[in-house]
Formats: sequence, structure tokens, C-alpha cells
Amino acid sequence: MKHLLTNPAYKMACDQFDAVADFLNMPEDVRDRTKLPKRLVTVAIPVRLDSGKVKVFEGHRVQHHLTLGPTKGGLRFHPGVELGEVAALAMWMSWKCALADLPYGGAKGGVAVDPRKCSIGELERITRRYTSEMIPFIGPQTDVMAPDMGTNEQTMAWIMDTYSHQVGHAVPSIVTGKPVSIGGSLGRKEATGRGVAFLVNRAIDLLKLPNDSRVIVQGFGNVGSYAAIGLAKYGARIIGVSDVSGGVHNPKGLDLDALQEHVTRTGSITGFPGGDKISNEELLLQPCDVLIPAAMDRVITEKNAGKINCRILAEAANGPTTVEADAILRQRPEIFVIPDILCNSGGVIVSYFEWVQDLQSFFWAETEIFDKLYRILGRTLDTVLKEARKHNIDNRTAALSIGIQKVVNGKTIRGLFP
Ligand code: NAD
Repeated sequence: MKHLLTNPAYKMACDQFDAVADFLNMPEDVRDRTKLPKRLVTVAIPVRLDSGKVKVFEGHRVQHHLTLGPTKGGLRFHPGVELGEVAALAMWMSWKCALADLPYGGAKGGVAVDPRKCSIGELERITRRYTSEMIPFIGPQTDVMAPDMGTNEQTMAWIMDTYSHQVGHAVPSIVTGKPVSIGGSLGRKEATGRGVAFLVNRAIDLLKLPNDSRVIVQGFGNVGSYAAIGLAKYGARIIGVSDVSGGVHNPKGLDLDALQEHVTRTGSITGFPGGDKISNEELLLQPCDVLIPAAMDRVITEKNAGKINCRILAEAANGPTTVEADAILRQRPEIFVIPDILCNSGGVIVSYFEWVQDLQSFFWAETEIFDKLYRILGRTLDTVLKEARKHNIDNRTAALSIGIQKVVNGKTIRGLFP
């Protein structure tokens, strides 16, 4: 699988793994077995466009390991989707699920398409054809999808419908992050962002930062917007946000209700009158207490890691910090990093709750869901910090080593077949 290494995200995930394997003194024969993805599926997705022409899109699904249960992970629609990137995201999902003690391996899927350039009908046809191509490889006990960048509740509803037609009855447990009306879980849509807000608030307390800490959020989609709203509820001041079109900055604080109304009306942050226009790159460098990358991977790089001006770096996106940037951050102990596999794990934790509710056909109240979510997040944060203190290591190495070790333990006790 060396060909995957040409993708920078996959190389980054492997470099992270190798460093942690060294730290754990992992035997050579265990390394590849733990690191390499179990199954990689690439499909051609022929779709009739509204124009009448047929276009073939490329879609992928990577199931990283099947040792502890079905695989679990999002489906991404983005023009830059590549097999290597999907494999990296699947690997991170494995460590994330293990860290939170969820009975899953990691997976990820993606279609190389710009959803903003497609009509709703085209998106539906892409989703349904992708699902039908993937049917031999997915199932409630095999691989369960969820939303990620560029996909949402509607996408999950189409996947569930396509799969259910194939098997002849409704199968809500084939996806999570679907609408509540067809077996989704209360709180799932907000879970990732609210989980980020909960962990950041805990870190603000730990570092004794002020309650009205200044927060900057890159990405104002599902995760970024709910993280911002959640933190504002805890008393924080949101002084900058951005999306793919650029950012807006106001050191006195942004009016989030007005911003949301603007984004809903116009489709982007551009032109919001409540602050100064700023580029995505510049926004990351503005002074703040909490910096939350909640969009793309590899945005904190060796070029800007020495210049970011925050006390907490909360990684809501997957893989936002490169390995080179991480080395710089390790020389900056004043920055408290909440690593991605912990920071954004609220999403997969509530996805797990949704899957359990679907399998039992027994649904929980929202208070019960967030109560359970915050208990798991709080416990996991404590475990990571304890491990970091015990070995004098950074938070990311601590989180990754706990997750990776749990997967190794599962493989070891199950043994090798045949
Ligand atoms: P989304 O599609 O709802 O929102 C993405 C946001 O990022 C949008 O505001 C978009 O305009 C912005 N964006 C895209 N490209 C950008 C760029 N180059 N620069 C700045 N902004 C850009 O996606 P989401 O579900 O909120 O996911 C965001 C991140 O969180 C991804 O890394 C995803 O893998 C991760 N994540 C999502 C979930 C979830 O439950 N949705 C769970 C865990 C992790």
C-alpha cells in the first residue's frame, strides 16, 4: 500500500502512527498489522447530470480495522477527495473510537465532487449510486456511515433509503446522523460542536482563563457553528469566524445570531457587516485565547505554527495540524492542544448512541444523550491528561497511544487467523 504514501494526509497519519509505535516499543510484526487499512474500495459512479450528460465520479470507502466491531466513519463530498486522504481519515477514526471505548473500527468514505456546484437532484443521484456500488461492503454489523464535510442529514436519509430498498425493509442502523423522523438520534446534529465546546470549556477552567475567553473558529459549517454557539453559551466571546469564502473579525465579539441569519440567507460569511473582512490565513494568526480549526486538514503548518497566538488549540477538524507543526507546538508549552481524536469525538460518540438506539428500537431523551456524552468526554480528557503527565508527553501522543494500544490489545487477544 506504499502508493497511498503519495497523499500527504496518509503520510501524516503514518508518521504519527510510527512515532507512537516507537514510544510504545511496539514489536515490528505488530506495526503493519495495526497500521495498514484492512479494505480499500474504489468505485466509479456514473450519474446523469441535469444537463442530460453522464459524468463519472470517483468514490472511495476505506475500512481500517474490523477487530473490535463494525467500522464507523463519515462520508465526505469534496473535490479534493483521494483514496489516500480517505485512508488517513479512516485510520484516525480507529484511534478515536478506541480512545472513547466505542466497539468500532475506523472507516471513512468520500466522493470527489464539489457539492456546491451540484443541484439537489444530482446530489441525490450521486449518493444513491455511490451507496448501491458500496452495498456488498456495508451493513449495520459491517460498516456504518455518517455525515462529514459536504454531506448532511439528507445525504444519510438517501443512503438509508437506497440500502433499505435493497434488503426489503427499513434499516435505520445502516447510517447515523440521519433525521430524527426516520430513526436519527436527538442531539446528533449538534453533538460534535457541543462536544468541542464542552472540552474547550473544561480546558478554560483548567488553565484558569477568563470566562469570556476570546475564541476564533475556522469553518462555520456543522461543527464550527455549533462549537461557536456552545462556547458563547458558556460565556466565551467569539471574535472571528471564517468559511471557504473568507473570514470576519471583531475583537469586541461577533453577534452570532445575526451571523447565522446572514449565512442562512446568503450562503456564506462574505459581506457580514458585524466585523472586518479577513482572510482565512490571517484569521488563524489573530490573538485569541482559543483557536478552533473546524474545516480542513493540514491548516496549522510549519509556516504558521510558530505564529499562532492562542492558549488553547482545539482541533475540531480531523488532522488540522501537520507533523512538522506539531514539533513546533511541542516547543510552545504555553499552548494546550486538545487533539482531534479527542476534541471532535462527540460526533462519533453520539453516532454510537444512535446506532444502539436503532438496534434496540428504543429512543432516549436529549438530556440523557448529552449527559452520557459529557460523561464520556470528561472521563476521556482526564485519562489523556493523566497519561500525558505520567510519561511527560504531549496531549496528542497521549491520546494516540491510548487509542492505538487498545487496538493492539484487541488484535493480540483475538490472535491471528488461520
Ligand atoms: P461542513 O461541510 O458542515 O462545514 C465545513 C466548513 O468549512 C464550511 O463552513 C466550509 O465553508 C468551511 N471550509 C471548507 N473549506 C475551507 C477552507 N479551505 N478554508 C476555510 N474554511 C473552509 O463540515 P463539518 O461536518 O462541519 O466538518 C468540519 C470538519 O470537522 C472536518 O474536518 C470533518 O472531518 C470534521 N468532523 C466532522 C464531524 C461531524 O459530525 N460533522 C465529526 C468529526 C469531525
